[in-house]
Amino acid sequence: MKIITDRFPISTLGHTDILDITSQVQEKVKLSGVEGGAVIVFVSGSTAGVTTVEYEPGLLKDLKRALEQLAPENIPYAHDAAWGDGNGHAHVRASLLGPSLSVPIEDGRLALGTWQQIVLVDFDNRSRQRQVLVHIVGE
Ligand code: ZN
Repeated sequence: MKIITDRFPISTLGHTDILDITSQVQEKVKLSGVEGGAVIVFVSGSTAGVTTVEYEPGLLKDLKRALEQLAPENIPYAHDAAWGDGNGHAHVRASLLGPSLSVPIEDGRLALGTWQQIVLVDFDNRSRQRQVLVHIVGE
């Protein structure tokens, strides 16, 4: 049984920037040598999230619009009143999406569908440098 924790950096533009990180995660799985198990993909920070999506331009627009409807940018947030950093909507969206995702590994590959990519979504109101943590368990 192997337990491996690794990380990779990624630059984001913020403002619900959706980035395909599938190849970086697959590369870490390949490096681990794990053939069967699971990988947890986790982003540190309370204004970003991780999920899967079909990474095509129409759906990226649809996802951004849905998140804007769930937690609009231009409404008052108690967080902003307290901290003045203007990113209350980013925190709420990040909590709704969740900070992590687990994906089974089969035959050394991520068990994703053909049209299913792993994405990091950065909701903050500025560009950010993020660290994505990849925790691989298996053999
Ligand atoms: Zn904040």
